[in-house]
Amino acid sequence: MPPRPLAQSPRKVFDGFGFCQRSVSAFVQPRSVEDVAAVLSRASEEGVRLGMRGSGRSYGDAALNGGGLILDMRHMGRVLSWDAERGVIEAEPGLTIRELWTRTLADGWWPPVVSGTAWPTLGGCVAMNIHGKNHFRMGGISDHVLELDLITPGGEHVTLSPTRDPELFFAVLGGFGMLGVVTRIKLQLKRVYSGRLKVQQFHTPTLQSQLERFEQHTQDSDYLVSWVDCITSGAGLGRAQIHRATYLHEGEDPDGVAMLSPAKQDLPGHIMGVPKSIVPKLLKLFSFNLGMQAVNLVKYAASVVGSTKPYLQGHAAFHFLLDYVPEFRQSYAPGGFIQYQPFVPKEAALPVLTEILRRSQRAGIVSYLGVLKRYRPDRVLLPHALDGYSLAMDFPVTAANKADLWRLCGELSDVVTEAGGRFYPAKDSVLRPQDVQRAWGQDRLSRFAALRRRADPRGVLRTEWAERVGLDVFDR
Ligand SMILES: Cc1cc2nc3c(=O)[nH]c(=O)nc-3n(C[C@H](O)[C@H](O)[C@H](O)COP(=O)(O)OP(=O)(O)OC[C@H]3O[C@@H](n4cnc5c(N)ncnc54)[C@H](O)[C@@H]3O)c2cc1C
Repeated sequence: MPPRPLAQSPRKVFDGFGFCQRSVSAFVQPRSVEDVAAVLSRASEEGVRLGMRGSGRSYGDAALNGGGLILDMRHMGRVLSWDAERGVIEAEPGLTIRELWTRTLADGWWPPVVSGTAWPTLGGCVAMNIHGKNHFRMGGISDHVLELDLITPGGEHVTLSPTRDPELFFAVLGGFGMLGVVTRIKLQLKRVYSGRLKVQQFHTPTLQSQLERFEQHTQDSDYLVSWVDCITSGAGLGRAQIHRATYLHEGEDPDGVAMLSPAKQDLPGHIMGVPKSIVPKLLKLFSFNLGMQAVNLVKYAASVVGSTKPYLQGHAAFHFLLDYVPEFRQSYAPGGFIQYQPFVPKEAALPVLTEILRRSQRAGIVSYLGVLKRYRPDRVLLPHALDGYSLAMDFPVTAANKADLWRLCGELSDVVTEAGGRFYPAKDSVLRPQDVQRAWGQDRLSRFAALRRRADPRGVLRTEWAERVGLDVFDR
């Protein structure tokens, strides 16, 4: 009996992590390279448009393909080889960051780049070229990918590396799944001598002093990140709590080797003394502008009175703060939330970020959580990073604010692109075609379109994000 048409595969509702965008798609779950190749070839024959999905941790519509087919990659998550001497791992794309370090940490290796959650898959990470709190030192994950295998809808099976077809390699990295399915990733990990980092916190009373402290610490820190109060205006605009962290040298932490055990990396059960199970409910009570202003005030005050003395913290606890509270997003129910994360060149950071905060406050649509990070330029064809800063802002979405929020983000994107800034597809819900056109420029977009023509001549690949911003097309 012939197999049933792909369009008649089981269907379900998929959402973005911010759960204000969702759609119904058919889905299939390949378990091998052969399965992937067969689905791509059948999709091409049957005229079905498909998009890949890892853990669905992208905030907006980057891993949605409403009305089409989702290739759910989570069942291809095996470690294919692990070289504990050199710290090189080869894995299928469905392996999560958590499964990765759980396998390698006891041997003294940590992923060189991790996101703020441990749940993304390696496929999703390379497709978005994720960054961590250390981009200014280590770059994106693309800087550590030694090799990858790609199957294109056009039928190519290729192994790519910085020296084997570099044009395609650096376009697939950060190419948001529009050039084919990544089926194997070879990654260089980072040697660590302790399961902990040395961490220090301090506060900065203004945006200017925050940026100055970042510049001051880029040389002597391995990680830098700040939580920014986006609600306070006037003299306290952009005040923040900064965390900096460094790796520990061999022998520096007496318990370092014992702490390499994954069992020691469990996330604490409390946040600021509050059991994590009730944090979403508590946050929900404060989920209105004045309530979140109070939360931001308390957090800032705690950082002012808190000690600036360095302390030791496990890698997982330092990196995966948002995983402490698995259901934190429920505090944004029922409308969900978006994250808007502009990237701004260093020289323009102070005026542009000031303008962004002021405009959002004037509009009465404020970000409840703001996070600032520092970056260096990236080698991928369509980078979000540049020599500068990003400010990630979480905005609640309600029936009442939605149109105004989208309008505000459009205005902010004009300010950002005017200053030579960029955006990150994994965090986007609001960009317009003109925003990506300005952010990446015609030359990069034409080169990407040419690679699309080669890899996907019949236009099989689609995500709602790529279609919304006009990047599922070839004619540029
Ligand atoms: C709480 C939280 C914190 C975060 N913090 C950060 C952060 O600090 N830094 C950062 O960079 N990101 C961060 N992110 C975003 C996240 O890292 C990215 O969205 C990442 O891509 C998610 O991986 P995923 O497996 O869920 O992929 P999905 O979201 O499911 O998919 C992402 C993209 O990858 C494509 N894709 C998936 N698998 C494949 C494959 N095998 N081959 C080709 N394409 C594929 C999809 O088509 C889609 O375009 C955060 C997300 C959350 C929810």
